[in-house]
Amino acid sequence: MVTAEKTKEKGKTNIWHVAQQQLDIVAEKMNLDRGIHEILRQPKREFTVNFPVKMRDGSIKVFTGYRVHHNLTRGPGKGGIRYHPEVTLDEVKALAMWMTWKCAVVGIPYGGAKGGVVCNPKEMTLGELEALTRRFASELILIIGPEKDIPAPDVYTNPQVMAWIMDTFSMNKGYSVAGVVTGKPLQIGGSEGRNEATARGCVYVIEEAANHLGIDMRGATVAIQGYGNAGSIAAKLLAEAGCKIIAVSDSRGGIHNPKGMDPNDIIAHKQKSGSVVGFHGSKEISNEEILEIPCDILVPAALENVITEKNAGKIKARIIAEAANGPTTPEADDILFKNKIMVLPDILANAGGVTVSYFEWVQDLQSLFWKEKEVNAKLKEIMIDSFHSVLKISQKHKENMRTAAYMLAVGRVAEAIKLRGIYP
Ligand code: NAD
Repeated sequence: MVTAEKTKEKGKTNIWHVAQQQLDIVAEKMNLDRGIHEILRQPKREFTVNFPVKMRDGSIKVFTGYRVHHNLTRGPGKGGIRYHPEVTLDEVKALAMWMTWKCAVVGIPYGGAKGGVVCNPKEMTLGELEALTRRFASELILIIGPEKDIPAPDVYTNPQVMAWIMDTFSMNKGYSVAGVVTGKPLQIGGSEGRNEATARGCVYVIEEAANHLGIDMRGATVAIQGYGNAGSIAAKLLAEAGCKIIAVSDSRGGIHNPKGMDPNDIIAHKQKSGSVVGFHGSKEISNEEILEIPCDILVPAALENVITEKNAGKIKARIIAEAANGPTTPEADDILFKNKIMVLPDILANAGGVTVSYFEWVQDLQSLFWKEKEVNAKLKEIMIDSFHSVLKISQKHKENMRTAAYMLAVGRVAEAIKLRGIYP
């Protein structure tokens, strides 16, 4: 059993230990079979590869990449690939475990996987990124494929990176295999609505939560940490739903304007200047301050471990919708629950991305493509049903929404393991 002290190493929270701790808490509450708990505490497979890339100046640089399969009982592995200088195996293990729960919460037939490469894409040319991606994809051929494990975009990877992976895999097979990755460009088997899906799914559950708590979306104030795929599109969709976007941030810092800001203008400013910082009429704030700003809805949409026991007590939002994976530590969860702040946990709140990834894979396998309206309608149904299933468990057991989501997810995975039995 992982304790709160163990999750800290050199003062830094280890998110793999957080992920294990979250499972331990729920396993105890659910009286989960000991053997099944042991299976779920560890990833099934951890793949580490050190691979060379020829850089633009002719030098050779060796990069380290990871792909982890946490549990494949309910179907092939599913999860993004992250390019970031601080990627670690433990981080990828945690993210893979969360994918197992996420797929189970929304009831899609996948197991949990995740990948990452330790690199700084901001300092690489497009050619270097392509070479890195193609070599990493070649190394992954052993363990990925439409029936085995289907990667997708995550932090600092995008549809272009997915296109390179799809092409590399296809070249090695000798035929086009669209279903090997999701989050691809539309022209090569991507799905309508995939790019917006994480944010759209997040907004569907925010709307349900607001309705449940009696918060009017029209005029509700919103702060968003992280202004990439998840954060900036959530800002746009929330503004369309009538909310007021009063603060946003990216890796360079944050901006605040209590009168509200136009999310599209912020995107245009970021495209021109490289950051949200310096947006007209806004006051500069830090990435820590943005979390504590008085608002109705707080959307962490950047990295993990940002809401901890140190700042949880200072958060004033009424709803926290975790577009990011793992932004809240278990200690912070307890404080937020006591303060009656509704946390929509990552495994529910950002599951829209993997849900539409599932739709994309289904469309690729059938070579039959759906209209965006159909994609969004199916996504809406799954997100709303999942929200209410989690809420029901939360109310029945008087637990916070994360514990309730875990109870639902872990229960589903445990049931699948029991039904399949232990091989041989
Ligand atoms: P992205 O690369 O498009 O955007 C990341 C954003 O975070 C950027 O604006 C970046 O500037 C900002 N950022 C980076 N470091 C920061 C820091 N220290 N403080 C504040 N901001 C910082 O990535 P994304 O796809 O939007 O992913 C964001 C989060 O959402 C991640 O936790 C990811 O795992 C999660 N997520 C994404 C998807 C998806 O489909 N894109 C699905 C599920 C979960």
